[in-house]
Amino acid sequence: MARIRGAIVVDAERCKGCGVCTVSCSQQVIILGKEVNSKGYYFAEAAFPGKCTGCANCGIICPDGAIKVYRVKEE
Ligand code: SF4
Ligand code: SF4
Repeated sequence: MARIRGAIVVDAERCKGCGVCTVSCSQQVIILGKEVNSKGYYFAEAAFPGKCTGCANCGIICPDGAIKVYRVKEE
């Protein structure tokens, strides 16, 4: 049976590394990475993408609109 899972794409240049998205995710998918963007901010990344449910909390809460959330159908 098909199953829906989520996937996020972070726009690293828009991210200011505030960390709000990391605490908004009930699945602990997101972390602040070890690399910085051109402004010197550690940006968010999906460390455990397989756990994303596509709930969209992170995309809604990000003050900079840096996260796009997709829902993917898995067969
Ligand atoms: S909430 Fe937005 S700006 Fe803040 S760390 Fe997450 S992606 Fe970056
Ligand atoms: S869509 Fe939901 S589960 Fe996926 S990373 Fe964002 S807050 Fe976490």
